[in-house]
Amino acid sequence: MRAVDIILKKREKGELTKEEINFFVQGFVRDQIPDYQVSAWAMAVVLNGMTPRETTDLTLAMVQSGRVLDLSGVVDIAVDKHSSGGVGDKTSLVVLPVVAAAGLPVGKMSGRGLGFSGGTLDKMESIPGYRVDLNTEEFKRQLKEKGIVLTGQSVDLAPADGKLYALRDVTGTVQSIPLIASSIMSKKIAGGAQAIVLDIKVGRGAFMETLEMARDLAGLMEKIGDLAGRKTVCLLSDMNQPLGHAVGNAVEVAEAIETLHGGGPADFLEHCLHVSAHMLHIGHRARDLAEARHLAEEAIADGAAFRKFRVLVEAQGGDVTYVDQPGKLPRAKLIEPVPATRGGWLAGVDARVIGEASVALGAGRASKADVVDHAVGLVIHHKVGDRVEQGDTLFDIHANDSRKQSEARQRVLEAHVIVDQQVPPLPLFYE
Ligand code: URA
Repeated sequence: MRAVDIILKKREKGELTKEEINFFVQGFVRDQIPDYQVSAWAMAVVLNGMTPRETTDLTLAMVQSGRVLDLSGVVDIAVDKHSSGGVGDKTSLVVLPVVAAAGLPVGKMSGRGLGFSGGTLDKMESIPGYRVDLNTEEFKRQLKEKGIVLTGQSVDLAPADGKLYALRDVTGTVQSIPLIASSIMSKKIAGGAQAIVLDIKVGRGAFMETLEMARDLAGLMEKIGDLAGRKTVCLLSDMNQPLGHAVGNAVEVAEAIETLHGGGPADFLEHCLHVSAHMLHIGHRARDLAEARHLAEEAIADGAAFRKFRVLVEAQGGDVTYVDQPGKLPRAKLIEPVPATRGGWLAGVDARVIGEASVALGAGRASKADVVDHAVGLVIHHKVGDRVEQGDTLFDIHANDSRKQSEARQRVLEAHVIVDQQVPPLPLFYE
């Protein structure tokens, strides 16, 4: 078999066999198939798609590219969550400690920024010393002893996804239902999850722009989960505007800490409580969603969730003084509040443009070798449906470069659409 023939077959809209998919994935992981061929293949998949059978085979090939964690004996039931990617999506930073504090141990492998969407690992690395490279044994030990883990994909778990994810980020090949489904589900299966809450983002700042696409992705991931004997719950949530206010890395960590203290933006807190409740419910920690929600609220109110976050940071080598005093987190040299140029009702805050502007400030990568600047980002003050007056601060730019700062000012101003008629707020969840 030759990699080029598999690329050509997909370019011509052919259906790849299980053997061809296995050959390609193994060749990539063993460095026998170079990045440029894998990029060409990924683009062919983006353009021509894959059947559910091909997607399932791709997922299983990625699972088999490494070890599969067995968490029996470590936890009673291994529950995990994953987001399909969004802007300002710092949900894991709050949900994991909430769920763990409510008595359900949780270990998660997260990703880095992907395209215009932020990555949990990049955010957590704003805290000096925080390790995202735990190996399997460290993962299991920490889960048993501390009840919480938030790390990156270890080299031995679904390594094919780790390599492909980094390549997709910088080759315009993120937006594909089969590639997203196989990426997420391979990680979750390899990570030993028995029950998974999938937070599928829908809208301008998501890889699924329409509800129909989000439902297709949900259906496919449920099917893969069924085949692998894993229970899945899919939530379809809005991503037309950023989640919460902060978009970037350190700014998002600070907002997550504020939320763990019971503050933070109302939409973000509500989102986290809803996702946490579903995790506690499928993890059999509560009889129904109402009880689960109550447990989640209590974990924030009594400080247990914040303390769990501290435990997490300390266990993974992070400097907890940054958690206790978020003012110590990396801070950009240039912080500029940008006012509204007119009054009216906010009809749109384009999450895609804001995600791209944040990446362009340096919070994400344009090429694989780029180093993320943890200090930069944006703080978006208003939500769709808000009334704003001329001169009100619409957003703050956190920049380390004045040229990038003025580019961001222009783009983010244009991302805000202000109209004369009252506009209803956007829903948080669709289904
Ligand atoms: N999250 C992932 O882990 N993979 C994707 O492809 C998209 C979001």
